[in-house]
Amino acid sequence: MSDTIAALSTPLAPGGIGVIRISGDKATEIADRVVRTTSGKSMSDMKGYNAAHGKAYDGDELLDECVALVFRAPKSYTGEDIVEISCHGGVLVTSRVLRAVFSAGARPAEGGEFTKRAFLNGKMDLSEAEAVMGLISARGEGGMKAALTALDGALSKKINTYCDTLVSAAANMAAWVDYPDDEIPELDFTVLEKRLNEVYNGIESLLSKFDAGKAITDGVETAIVGKPNVGKSALMNMLSGFRRSIVTDIAGTTRDVVEETVRVGRVILNLADTAGIRESEDAVESIGVELAKEKIENAGLILAVFDVSRGLDESDEEILELCKGRDVIGVINKTDLPCKVDVERIREALGEVIFISALKGDGEKELSDAIERALGTDKIDTSQAMLTTERQRRSAQKALEGIKEAIDAVNMGMTMDAVNVCIDSAIENLLELTGKKAREAVVDEVFSRFCVGK
Ligand code: GDP
Repeated sequence: MSDTIAALSTPLAPGGIGVIRISGDKATEIADRVVRTTSGKSMSDMKGYNAAHGKAYDGDELLDECVALVFRAPKSYTGEDIVEISCHGGVLVTSRVLRAVFSAGARPAEGGEFTKRAFLNGKMDLSEAEAVMGLISARGEGGMKAALTALDGALSKKINTYCDTLVSAAANMAAWVDYPDDEIPELDFTVLEKRLNEVYNGIESLLSKFDAGKAITDGVETAIVGKPNVGKSALMNMLSGFRRSIVTDIAGTTRDVVEETVRVGRVILNLADTAGIRESEDAVESIGVELAKEKIENAGLILAVFDVSRGLDESDEEILELCKGRDVIGVINKTDLPCKVDVERIREALGEVIFISALKGDGEKELSDAIERALGTDKIDTSQAMLTTERQRRSAQKALEGIKEAIDAVNMGMTMDAVNVCIDSAIENLLELTGKKAREAVVDEVFSRFCVGK
């Protein structure tokens, strides 16, 4: 028996409706102490999926008119009895009704506790619970679709299939090792290796798309770099669709790092508009220069901006040097002016080069396509299973290592026991990924990031 928890499930802000959710064995009993139904029927006598109109009270004090919706275990979000009281969405009203619910015997829910109970009651696995979080925090259509796909169990199904394959391979081997005299068909190593390879390739494919998937769901840290006056702020404005940075003719006006999140195609860019890279006597600008170098270091994508109307100088060369070996797109700006820049030199150093006029808004589509290509997001299908959290990536990576070791062990002719140990480790990690066998600390970590009321 679990205690009964309650929380406000809608934001604590003025709104049409505010929903107070109560979950646990005493949900209806507690709701009955707060809500007097118009029909006189108590919620404890109501079936699931039934609603009652009534009034919410704190003792004898009338708080609001409301509708209470009853869900019966196990057919509810948490798998427990739930009552959702919908009252008017005022900050004071919802707070008072919630307080009345606490006085009536419920305990304040912790962040993510409703979803944690859903997980513990087998309503969803850990990757699906993470999808709930992904859905709530989705910042773009792509992230939302990816979360819905995961919530629908696409990743879980895939991982469960891999797990089943490994379990049956391990069981076969164990049986053969333990009962060599019985009529168990001799283990076919080619079949075993084929199965291991199938799972290996599947997990490797999931892992290879992780970074690109993250760019869609969480965004990628993007640094706009370039010497002063090439048009970094103008590019940022073009991407943001409104004037965020101050665009001026005086070199080095973008002194600090301005942060901004923009959506380009399906990709979310966490943009940093940095100060000019050029070394400067000006102390304030120097801070900007240091920040710019720092930003390049931490960036997942660099947009290196050059001015088409000016030849490359030392600062440009310094930037080309800093961008070496990184995911970078050379952005040649001011195409409305005559070309004086050595395009080939930039192309040779950076690979991908595109032309824009930030002032006129030309080249936006080319830039957006180049970004998708650079991040590999053009190959991501959000209706297919993907790994969406660092936790999932870690478990998948460890599982992959286990399978790799198992394949090596088979190839080196090691004992079946040795092969099995590796397969077992892979299985453990896959079970941790879906949460079927996750350590308590891992589960707590996942739900600690949820908001209260979810
Ligand atoms: P930053 O120092 O790199 O951030 O450069 P800004 O964005 O402040 O731009 C410097 C100057 O270049 C401003 O006067 C802008 O109006 C101008 N500029 C920016 N983009 C373009 C462009 O595409 N064409 C032209 N002709 N001027 C531009």
